Amino acid sequence: MKIPVSRLKNDQLEVFEGECKPEDLDIDIGIMHFPEPIKLQAEVSKSDEDLTVQVHLEGERVFTCSLCLEEFNNVFEKDFTLHYDIKGLDSVTLDSEVRDELLLDHPIRILCKPDCKGLCLSCGANLNEGSCGCEKEV
Ligand SMILES: [Zn+2]
Ligand SMILES: [Zn+2]
Repeated sequence: MKIPVSRLKNDQLEVFEGECKPEDLDIDIGIMHFPEPIKLQAEVSKSDEDLTVQVHLEGERVFTCSLCLEEFNNVFEKDFTLHYDIKGLDSVTLDSEVRDELLLDHPIRILCKPDCKGLCLSCGANLNEGSCGCEKEV
């Protein structure tokens, strides 16, 4: 999203709404991807030299479970504040900051459910769907 800084009045709050296309942001990292455009709302206020942007993101993402490798959907919302030095700029683009926030925002260990049983080490069956019948090594 592009904020037309030169068109904004000082100390006046303006709201911009739009969508981020996942393919434009390049945020498919394998264990997480985004099936739909992400809704973005930006509350912008400006002074002579600074721009403050309150960003609200809303969307859906698809995680791959670290243990059983099944994909599952996760609805998310995220709020953060960005500051820009706008001396001499006509506009600022939020994309790379939005991208960073989205990429960093996932659990270190992604699990489809807290007690995911994972895959059988011998045959690869998904143990959430029942026992595969392999002997358990002790
Ligand atoms: Zn799982
Ligand atoms: Zn097995």
